[in-house]
Amino acid sequence: MTNQEVFSFKDELIALRRDFHMYPEVGFELHRTSKLVQEYLENLGLEVKRIAKTGVVALLRGNKPGRTIMLRADMDALNLQELNDTPYRSKIEGIMHACGHDGHTAMLLVAAKILKKHQSELSGNVKFVFQPSEEKFPPGGALPMIEEGVLMDPPVDYAFGIHLWNSLECGKIGLRPGAMMAAADEFRILLKGKGGHGALPHQCKDPIVAACELVLALQTIVSRNIDPLESAVLSVGKIQSGSAFNIIPEYALIEGTTRSLNETVREIIKQQIHRITKGVAIANDLEFEIDHKEGTAVLRNDEFLNQIIVEVAKSVVGEENVVLVPPTMGGEDMSFFLQRVPGVFYLVGSANTERGINKPHHSPYFDIDERALLIGTQMHVETVFRFLRKDDGSLSKSN
Ligand SMILES: [Zn+2]
Ligand SMILES: [Zn+2]
Repeated sequence: MTNQEVFSFKDELIALRRDFHMYPEVGFELHRTSKLVQEYLENLGLEVKRIAKTGVVALLRGNKPGRTIMLRADMDALNLQELNDTPYRSKIEGIMHACGHDGHTAMLLVAAKILKKHQSELSGNVKFVFQPSEEKFPPGGALPMIEEGVLMDPPVDYAFGIHLWNSLECGKIGLRPGAMMAAADEFRILLKGKGGHGALPHQCKDPIVAACELVLALQTIVSRNIDPLESAVLSVGKIQSGSAFNIIPEYALIEGTTRSLNETVREIIKQQIHRITKGVAIANDLEFEIDHKEGTAVLRNDEFLNQIIVEVAKSVVGEENVVLVPPTMGGEDMSFFLQRVPGVFYLVGSANTERGINKPHHSPYFDIDERALLIGTQMHVETVFRFLRKDDGSLSKSN
């Protein structure tokens, strides 16, 4: 039974997770983390490559030819001071694993170790992908890894990824077919006016009045232009202008984020931002510049593969613990892998409300119930077994 096999690695899983937790690193600067990951995978005898600066990819070739399954873990932490008082709290000032990526890394390493033991039973390959810079987007770590060929040689057929999730109790697994996470874009609008004395507005072109008008007008995009049955968010997070109470300034800057769960909505939002900004600028006789940065793509789970992972999850945690989760407006750059190959990204519950371990992701008090590491590891292993250990007619038929 894989269950017992995974359980025999409990101490190692926790030790690995705590080690990564104590020495967190951010962005592409994962020098210690990726060195440990690389050494661990090399010691297993896998074919290991460095990619996208501090990314690591390892290939396990099964005994017989078959599909290539990619399993992905992100390894980066956040610029945040940990406020927990645990023996394994972060030893690095101002940096903390507050999203669970320390656990993702530990789970995938131990899954690689277990799968290596079963190499002779596998028809096909497993690609273990350890990604830098999930949190720091753009550019994020997924796109550079793709550019450097992570999905090729051998080409990846299916990609799977796990996020430990504190909105779910430990013991539960959350899945969603189709769109699960948002396209997260960024916009920046500069309104250019004509500065002067606050007492002489008729000699000026006031960008502040226009900026206020614009922030409110932008709110009509979601309420008036998007189908009420679709989801969208537009939030202005920054307004900058002026230097003194009695001066009309030259410029006003507005920055914000938009979220959507499909490409049509995403495009409407982008076009409306442009149209409304232009209209407000003309009405106020101002010039304007718009800078629109595309962020993560919509994260879309393949419906057929999702159903298979639902079955795998039922076998790991029992039918009653497999839940359909609502989509979130957060972004994830796993979406770029899933844009190119079918796959599933899903959530492994890591909260323990009774023990007070239920703080949100990115909180300085974030922690996980480490028993979730066993479940995540088992999901990785069982997923590979499901696709590579059995000759399953239903899978070949679908392709
Ligand atoms: Zn995060
Ligand atoms: Zn995360």
